[in-house]
Amino acid sequence: DTIGDNLDRTVATYPDREALVDWATGRRWTYRELAAEVDALALGLLDLGIGRGDRVGIWAPNCAEWTFTQYATAKIGAILVNINPAYRSHELEYVLDQAGIRMLVAAERFKTSDYAAVIERARPKCAALEHVVLLGGDAWAGLLEAGRAADPGALRRARAGLSADDPINIQYTSGTTGFPKGATLSHHNILNNGFFVGELCGYTEADRVCIPVPFYHCFGMVMGNLACTSHGACMVIPAPAFDPKATLSAVQEERCTSLYGVPTMFIAELAEPDFADYDLSSLRTGIMAGSPCPVEVMKQVVERMGMAEVTICYGMTETSPVSTQTRADDSIDRRVSTVGRVHPHLEVKIVDPETGLTVPRGEPGELCTRGYSVMLGYWEQPDKTTEAIDRARWMHTGDLGVMDTEGYVTITGRIKDMVIRGGENLYPREIEEFLHTHPDIVDAQVVGVPDARYGEELMAWIRMREGAEPLTAERLREFCTGTLAHHKIPRYVHVVDEFPMTVTGKVRKVEMREKAIELLG
Ligand code: ATP
Ligand code: MG
Repeated sequence: DTIGDNLDRTVATYPDREALVDWATGRRWTYRELAAEVDALALGLLDLGIGRGDRVGIWAPNCAEWTFTQYATAKIGAILVNINPAYRSHELEYVLDQAGIRMLVAAERFKTSDYAAVIERARPKCAALEHVVLLGGDAWAGLLEAGRAADPGALRRARAGLSADDPINIQYTSGTTGFPKGATLSHHNILNNGFFVGELCGYTEADRVCIPVPFYHCFGMVMGNLACTSHGACMVIPAPAFDPKATLSAVQEERCTSLYGVPTMFIAELAEPDFADYDLSSLRTGIMAGSPCPVEVMKQVVERMGMAEVTICYGMTETSPVSTQTRADDSIDRRVSTVGRVHPHLEVKIVDPETGLTVPRGEPGELCTRGYSVMLGYWEQPDKTTEAIDRARWMHTGDLGVMDTEGYVTITGRIKDMVIRGGENLYPREIEEFLHTHPDIVDAQVVGVPDARYGEELMAWIRMREGAEPLTAERLREFCTGTLAHHKIPRYVHVVDEFPMTVTGKVRKVEMREKAIELLG
């Protein structure tokens, strides 16, 4: 099936169920209404001459039009290129050019950035770019109008030639460890993954899923949108960009049954001063993914947010994204200490990064994934593709993990984050977990900094509870001594209000390391 076929089936089964709520603007659509928007847009695109294989960029924060564009491009076999809303002119030009984007759908502005002006300046430099359509503007309205007036037969004819293995999406990775790479994905890749994520969350047409994670990332558009539409559930967009208050309000007022986030988002929601005033009793499940979840945070999500069935997913953009997930009936302990078991129809193995051989259960190594979810490749970067996907089609994730005898996987860090101090491998994750147990620490990140004597030393970046006295290195040492081996105690402490983040809400350790070196220099 293509994504279009799958959406049509849901529309036929649940025409009058609510499909989409754009909470910030108060707009809502049933599945029948959603299909009308998507088909009008698909026909409008065909009318402009956009079709199979053409790259259509979308540069906008979360909104209903993002979702319409996602399904309309998939219906005609065009390749949607997700563009990070935080990009500025330099990165935009890179993506427009790298992906050879023919048409760009964009918000007029977002936060302090005047997208329209940035696009005008980029335009002469991007040879492939023929059409720019600003959301909410005349061109957008014209596109839908043309689509509504067009012969629906054109859409049937365009769809007849599509294959589920066609590329239909280029998603850039978060850029946590370097410059983002464009993972090229097919209908088959992301539709199946969205479907199985929904299965493991137990979604039915009665579910209402609050999606504060960005659509430009697979967490929003696959684990959010595709998981919902493949099960007839309703997508609720709380705000254009993450806002803890809007998220809690949307859950309360829309009676959401499921809530998504990276750990930092849940931390922000739990830290809202009036958190206790929200009625979150409709919540049953949700997904926490993207980076390791501190145990304390997981406990609070279950106990204070009532998300008894919350699942943890592990994956990466290149694998559509999810590879492992906890199951609703897994013990709380499993859900705090592991990222679950392999997903249906996929394979996961842990190998010694040096020899490539599978390690015994319980021993750490690099996690590799194989199966339907592995991307077609990095867009026009064949060298990077062969570095990441080996000849047997295993995706080498760059993540360190351990698999126990029952198949549960624990992520212990990234190969790139590992710190080697005096010849000893240190895993920042373990130390961060420990720092989270300090009553005044809201969040902690540990990075390695160069050191003449030990090769590397540890620096802890710490966010303190409001009103708490900033921790010094001595105080931290006192707190750790006796509980943490001395070589794992961070030598330096840096107290900050915020960590440098990617728009997907992940901490950018590369940037923290650079700043740390500056601070010490
Ligand atoms: P880049 O590849 O550009 O450096 P990125 O790897 O952060 O950025 P994504 O594809 O968005 O880009 O994220 C995938 C990564 O996120 C995984 O490789 C893994 O390191 C991390 N991750 C995802 N889920 C989890 C999880 N549940 N627990 C721990 N880490 C996770
Ligand atoms: Mg990555």
